[in-house]
Amino acid sequence: MDYRGRFAPSPTGLLHFGSLVAAVGSWLCARHAGGRWLLRMEDIDPPREVAGSADAILAALPAFGLVADGPVLRQSQRSDAYAAAFARLRALDAVFPCWCSRSGLAASGLHRDGRCTSPPDPDREPAWRLRTPDIEIAFDDVLQGPQRQNLRETAGDFVIRRVEGLYSYQLACVVDDAHQGITEVVRGCDLLDSTPRQIHLQRLLGLPTPRYLHLPLALDAQGRKLSKSAQALPVDPADPLPALRRALDFLGQPVPTDAADAPGMLAAALRRFDPARMPQRSGCFVI
Ligand code: GLU
Repeated sequence: MDYRGRFAPSPTGLLHFGSLVAAVGSWLCARHAGGRWLLRMEDIDPPREVAGSADAILAALPAFGLVADGPVLRQSQRSDAYAAAFARLRALDAVFPCWCSRSGLAASGLHRDGRCTSPPDPDREPAWRLRTPDIEIAFDDVLQGPQRQNLRETAGDFVIRRVEGLYSYQLACVVDDAHQGITEVVRGCDLLDSTPRQIHLQRLLGLPTPRYLHLPLALDAQGRKLSKSAQALPVDPADPLPALRRALDFLGQPVPTDAADAPGMLAAALRRFDPARMPQRSGCFVI
């Protein structure tokens, strides 16, 4: 099967080092396999969106030599597809409405084991949660090795559609990975514990499960994820080589010394790319 990889940033800020690592790592894996590399803008969560950051990220990537094969898929334009998947989950009786308020939830945990004991409130929309079964989901991560998670214990009855009518990242991600024909998901280890939820949704929706490769996370000196850190300085598209060198080094790859520009550096890195050198580094929690 033809390899199709992707990079799927959220527009919650400028491109920073952690996301550059995911972009370069997914690009190298795709090109090394002779495959395609696709882009998806995960602009599905307007409350969290930072104005202008989607365009800024899309403008920065080519400056780092990262050019996608084909147009960008924007999640903000995919609500019909998410609604269809949601309707399918409803038809399967795999979701239930939940009127727990955040505070009610914190106080007493009113939804459990596939049902919500809060009284329906006709004046407001419910959230919709998945009836998460008590099952183990196992998969072999290409880099991190065998993974296993009890879905109910770790994810609980997770949200599929939020109170505001927005679809969750988990649902949108599986619908779009299938729509884009992704065969291998290469992304940061912060999403390792989302993968069993996504595999479960794929099975419910009759979608294929891609291979998964979770890259180590870049952490700051205090051990915090860069995107959450005050020191998450954006990488500079006007001066791409220093950040590209750091990203290649972080991915365990030899850093080309003679490249004149970003495309040249990526091309040289690709010639010497050895997936076996990618580190299973700490900072990546193992589930
Ligand atoms: N949009 C997610 C993020 O920026 C990545 C989603 C994914 O790669 O599955 O963290």
